[in-house]
Amino acid sequence: MRTSEWVKSVIRKDEIEKYLINGKCFIDERVIEGKLEANAAPDKSRVRAIIQKSLEIKTLEPDETAALLNVQDPELWEEMDAAALEVKKKVYDNRIVFFAPLYCSNLCVNNCSYCGFRVDNAKEVRRILTMDEVRRETEVVLDEGHKRMILVYGEHPRSDVDYMADTIRTVYSVERKAPITGRTVGIRRVNVNAAPMEIAKMRTLKNAGIGTYQVFQETYHRPTYESVHPANTVKGDYLWRLYSLHRAMEGGIDDVAIGALFGVYDWKFEVMSLLYHTLDLERQFGVGPHTISFPRLTPALEAEMSTDSRYKVSDDDFKKLVTVLRLSVPFPGMIVTCRENPQSKKEAIMRGCTQTDASTKIGIGAYQEHKYLQELENSQFTIGDSTSLDCNIQEMAKMGFISSFCTAGYRCGRTGDTIMGMLKHCVEGKYCKLNAVLTFREYLDDYASPETKQLGETLIRKEIAEIEAHSYFQKNQKLLSQFKVDYDRINMGERDIFI
Ligand code: SAM
Ligand code: SF4
Repeated sequence: MRTSEWVKSVIRKDEIEKYLINGKCFIDERVIEGKLEANAAPDKSRVRAIIQKSLEIKTLEPDETAALLNVQDPELWEEMDAAALEVKKKVYDNRIVFFAPLYCSNLCVNNCSYCGFRVDNAKEVRRILTMDEVRRETEVVLDEGHKRMILVYGEHPRSDVDYMADTIRTVYSVERKAPITGRTVGIRRVNVNAAPMEIAKMRTLKNAGIGTYQVFQETYHRPTYESVHPANTVKGDYLWRLYSLHRAMEGGIDDVAIGALFGVYDWKFEVMSLLYHTLDLERQFGVGPHTISFPRLTPALEAEMSTDSRYKVSDDDFKKLVTVLRLSVPFPGMIVTCRENPQSKKEAIMRGCTQTDASTKIGIGAYQEHKYLQELENSQFTIGDSTSLDCNIQEMAKMGFISSFCTAGYRCGRTGDTIMGMLKHCVEGKYCKLNAVLTFREYLDDYASPETKQLGETLIRKEIAEIEAHSYFQKNQKLLSQFKVDYDRINMGERDIFI
């Protein structure tokens, strides 16, 4: 099929209309703007009552989120920041999950004005990885110590769903020997960030073993969306993108990930919209998103908007949006990426983020070619943090966070509404804590530098002592003894054991 014909075949109107309620989508600009206006000057006592509601691990109403977004008082922001971290600890404990992105292809039929992959960027050197190259990239990522990857693609017939399924299977098939112990290791969870597709294609990804399917709406503000995504492109269809994750759910992928590209439009509007998106997924499928992302625009080659946008988000506002998101939606994981510099990443983690990437390279083929930092000629944008996984884990340990490589939830069927139910009863966090310790043990033995190992041993002893003393595990002695047996098995050299 010719590319132009393929472009015309992507969108299925019937797979948009079925999710509209009374012909309307879940984003109503006037309603959102109205709520931001109506809650423009919330008084202290109301803000404190909302914070209290968040601390009870309840999803906020749009009016409540709007009120938090409009807080001016620095003292209240301090209280909100502290509460955001507390919410995270209640639901997710002190874990931080690491992953690595793998950019498979920069071929793209779209023309998003902020992205270096856009079709009009003639300076971009186009490349699509072969399966051999995917294998070699995965080997480098495995040698760093990663267990989770997210595969990323431009939108193009050559990287359509069959190519994606092949890349997923290829990544899972790679085995390596861990550098210190020589134990056999592999990637245990493959997530995907790709353009919206029809339900039948979602099923293909599901059958290939996809973990989470991630689509960012970029901006939920329709007029802005339409101005940055030309109408004659697939991506120009706002509603096709808005309902992509509804289709994923229907196609059997029950871990879906939402996000907005902050800096394209007003950050308060996007936070409100992410809440509405969460509520609509909950309403239509009984379960909200698995994660929320809030990438900020970074400079991209031949993409003027990436540097000139009048909505660029300052560091201060970035911290605020992370805090309000954490307080508004306690259950989804929150992802901060290497688009941010190490300091911003830390600030986000201190406000409730649960996942981040490390040792990231975003050029196509950049891992195996050992290209550090930035080679803009085949990258999508610039990154702010290129530090190694080991370095990140050390930093986290110093901050009291345990790095987790746990992928057990997905492999034990704790996904979708099962995992959300467990998170709501603060039970999943307990399993995750055990699995975090087990996978951290593996990392320390298989990959850690001497400094990280030293810090890690102290941290792991503290974690185990906490587990043993915790009332939940005191009451669940069977679980506790299983954990101890599994921990000893890993110490003896067994791998990939999870609860
Ligand atoms: N082509 C697919 C799509 O658009 O959905 C795959 C995703 S794209 C390769 C990954 C994400 O990178 C986009 O959804 C967008 O949010 C983000 N992105 C694009 N340009 C960016 C920039 N200049 N700075 C930061 N993030 C950017
Ligand atoms: Fe293509 Fe995605 Fe970049 Fe848009 S954001 S140009 S769709 S890769």
